[in-house]
Amino acid sequence: MELISSSISNIRALEAKYGRPQNSVRLLAVSKKKSKEHILRAVNSGVFDFGENYAQEALEKIKTLKGYKLTWHYIGPIQSNKAAKIAQNFDWVQSLDREKIAVKLNENRGSKHNALNICIQVNVSEESTKSGVAINQAEDLCGIVENLPNLNLRGLMAIPAPEPNFQLQREKYRELSNKFNDLKKIYPSIDVLSMGMSNDYEAAIAEGSTMVRLGTALFGARL
Ligand SMILES: *Cc1c(COP(=O)(O)O)cnc(C)c1O
Repeated sequence: MELISSSISNIRALEAKYGRPQNSVRLLAVSKKKSKEHILRAVNSGVFDFGENYAQEALEKIKTLKGYKLTWHYIGPIQSNKAAKIAQNFDWVQSLDREKIAVKLNENRGSKHNALNICIQVNVSEESTKSGVAINQAEDLCGIVENLPNLNLRGLMAIPAPEPNFQLQREKYRELSNKFNDLKKIYPSIDVLSMGMSNDYEAAIAEGSTMVRLGTALFGARL
């Protein structure tokens, strides 16, 4: 069966399996290193959210596909010198992990656009090499984003270390889900829990993900 439509059916089936409301999990198609043709295939299956990790590559796709009214999410590490372009061309940034970048995104978003949707990236596995704030620092960064007028605080995103065991995948995601529920009480604009990739999205949906970010499952392996 075709990868994109079978992944979409699988997300719906997992919502049912774990008692989640139908359509409560949004699909973000991760199109990094994939062509415009791949993106259009997903569009034909009813996918309109795309995630990119590399600013230059993404900007070209965003320009070429302007007519399709897609929603673009920046999900990669943010270099300070790319922050302006990211702020002006994306609809979402899911990989915010420091104040300096929040300030730059806000300055460069400008008031002619809608506010830039923001998820704070949490380093749930506490890997020193990975981006993201420690889980107990997420609240501070939420407070900073909340006070920047051109940013709209939407939630949390995480990329846990690869873990083959389903129960251990769920435990990590449960920590994030608990933090998400706590933060929602403080910041009512928070409504997105971005967790789950091709290898672990069942565990993420089981633990309350509202957005799964799938690359390989939709488009096959990246070269
Ligand atoms: C590449 C990437 C994904 C998709 O990974 P797959 O394993 O191909 O599904 C999801 N989220 C982020 C942040 C990524 O960089």
